[in-house]
Amino acid sequence: MSEVFVRVALDHPLPTLFDYRWGASDAAVVGTLVSVPFGKRHVVGLVCEVAAHSEVPAERLRDVHSVCTACPPVSAHWLALASFAADYYQRGLGEVALPALPQALRDASRWSRLFAPEERYRLTSEGRAALPDALPARATALAKLAQALAQADFLLAADARALHPKALATLDTWRAAGWVTLEVIDAAAVPAAASLPDAPAPALPTLTDEQASAVEAIRDADGFAAFLLHGVTGSGKTEVYLRALAAILAAKPDAQALVLVPEINLTPQFEAAFRARFAALDVSAIVTLHSGLAEGERARNWFAAHTGRARIVLGTRLAVLASLPQLAIIVVDEEHDPAYKQQEGLRYSARDLAIYRAKQLGVPVVLGSATPSLESWWQADQGRYKRLTLSRRAVADAVLPTVRLIDLEDERRRGRASIEGLSGPLIAAMKARLERGEQSLVFLNRRGYAPQLACDACGWVAGCPRCSAYVVLHKPERALRCHHCGWESRIPRSCPECGNVDIAPLGRGTQRVEETLGSAVPGARVLRIDADSTRRKGSAQALFSDVHAGEVDILVGTQMIAKGHDFQRVSLVGVLNADTALFSHDFRASERLFAQLMQVSGRAGRAGLPGEVLVQTRYPRHALYHALGRHDYVGFANATLAERRDAHLPPFVYQALLRAEGRTLEAALAFLQQAAAELAQIPAAERVTVYDAVPLTIVKVMHVHRAQLLIESASRAALQATLRAWQPLLRSLKGVLRWSLEVDPLDI
Ligand code: ADP
Ligand code: ZN
Ligand code: ZN
Repeated sequence: MSEVFVRVALDHPLPTLFDYRWGASDAAVVGTLVSVPFGKRHVVGLVCEVAAHSEVPAERLRDVHSVCTACPPVSAHWLALASFAADYYQRGLGEVALPALPQALRDASRWSRLFAPEERYRLTSEGRAALPDALPARATALAKLAQALAQADFLLAADARALHPKALATLDTWRAAGWVTLEVIDAAAVPAAASLPDAPAPALPTLTDEQASAVEAIRDADGFAAFLLHGVTGSGKTEVYLRALAAILAAKPDAQALVLVPEINLTPQFEAAFRARFAALDVSAIVTLHSGLAEGERARNWFAAHTGRARIVLGTRLAVLASLPQLAIIVVDEEHDPAYKQQEGLRYSARDLAIYRAKQLGVPVVLGSATPSLESWWQADQGRYKRLTLSRRAVADAVLPTVRLIDLEDERRRGRASIEGLSGPLIAAMKARLERGEQSLVFLNRRGYAPQLACDACGWVAGCPRCSAYVVLHKPERALRCHHCGWESRIPRSCPECGNVDIAPLGRGTQRVEETLGSAVPGARVLRIDADSTRRKGSAQALFSDVHAGEVDILVGTQMIAKGHDFQRVSLVGVLNADTALFSHDFRASERLFAQLMQVSGRAGRAGLPGEVLVQTRYPRHALYHALGRHDYVGFANATLAERRDAHLPPFVYQALLRAEGRTLEAALAFLQQAAAELAQIPAAERVTVYDAVPLTIVKVMHVHRAQLLIESASRAALQATLRAWQPLLRSLKGVLRWSLEVDPLDI
């Protein structure tokens, strides 16, 4: 019998496949997961090619150690997708393919247990009411069990047993009493051919004409088509996704849909909407994929998608690389959101990969947004994406809010009272909402109490010892914290330079505004939502439900509160500190600010209450605020695109960044200068513009100095060819700790 060899992708920076002997008796199949010896360890890899020969000398070839039989091979399509992403973003195939798999699958010791059927106990509402009062006093083990059930969505049999050896017997008694239910989820089971019944789900809203034609266009797409669904906030984009999915899933009994959202926090709201609408589908036919899931659950959900059992996958950017053998439609909600760009490791854009994937499979992709990215808007201008417009709010009587600019200079000149950065008109407007029982939302993009702590006497400002950055004052935690590296220290009692005890916070963050609101609007229940207040798992969801339940009068927060949430009783939005982004060195800052302000404004007046947006600014005549006041995305986009065209900026050119990290700034810059010199020997680089190497704005983080070199070209092909030829040259350069290439960078 002739020998068989496999070429395996491993998560390793060398952009090559690794050869092994296939010793197993079963035939080798491309796409299979294997465990192979690598150095002194065993690592998990993916079989990418099967061959009859190997160039590697026989004495150096090693055998595949084991084969993951529990998991069917990934498809050729999926491998082609990973391979495209690797090529485009200048990485090795293994560096893309393996991190795209759930962590649990990349540990061969867990393979046998991963997809075993799972028993889930859920508390019923009777159980929630009866327990724990029905328990005998001092029954601590039982109380623990009841608590574990109450705290999570469900409790796994295995976890219950870990709590108490006799837990399962107890759970059976509780089941008999109707307090808990038991479900057995078998991820490996053949998917039930869950056809969607034709019977209409209860009380679907009547589509507006614009919604109806959007749904029709998507449903009738023949093969690949990219749709840019431009719908003002509250125009009912979700309803369009739901109807389009229903049509496509109903047309094909095994079709799958992928729906991407920018933030983990938006998945519960979407999941609820999809579960309600597709109630006819088995519970396990709708799964979520995001980094907030426990490893086991993520693996099972991934597996459900991979085997076709899951018909709808809802996820964040990482879900774009899920294995979906019957993918028939992709939706990217809030497609403009920078969160779709991965900012470490493989720096991919999930939106761009979604488009590639749709093209590869010949299926429709829908990009939805009230403020599309200028890249997508321009594609639509070119006719490459089909524009679908929802110009009005869907709920009868709901109109877009009125936007009022509060001129801070004018307020000051007239000597009008303000409290700690909150202007008189904004405070009055919040008080009026409080009286009417409506909610207000205060948005500012800065968390912490104050961005700086400073000494008036000598000019000292508290800085991070590891970074070239100021540290942020966090009052509830009584700490100074570096937002770049996480360094933390206690708040000093006096100035470490001159001993002055009168050191004071400068500027305002969400914590400080929260504190001020408490006194400026007496009687209001104030809630803060930002990365600090939602650090614990599940806490964001709990806070958002307080808002929905009307237990909050004023919500203050960062961009976390701006995105996508359908708040029914918010009728006022206040915007603080937006001006800084108007004059940023980053050419995308104004696009981002405009999108954020449109989004946050969109939270007001959704359910028929007239909404109002108050923007505090020193530049009330700025064009961006004027466009915001008229809800004029189109005007803003066209004007900004014209500026970009004149200035030769994306989307009219393609860019890539080379970043270097060194022990000194000089080392990082020297590396980049050498790298730039190497471009001279690359023919394709003739069509590439090379800029000077420059330090990053925050040049030092964690004692490491960072600099970057921007290159760009009007030809994407020339840029790609240059990068491909440049990589091996860069690998031979020395002198820095690390370097990385980023294609289509968002932050420059
Ligand atoms: P968007 O995502 O465009 O901001 P949503 O999808 O959140 O808007 O919809 C806003 C609100 O409009 C939701 O409460 C939704 O239930 C409602 N809605 C959507 N379509 C319709 C319709 N055709 N008729 C009535 N209400 C609708
Ligand atoms: Zn001092
Ligand atoms: Zn730091």
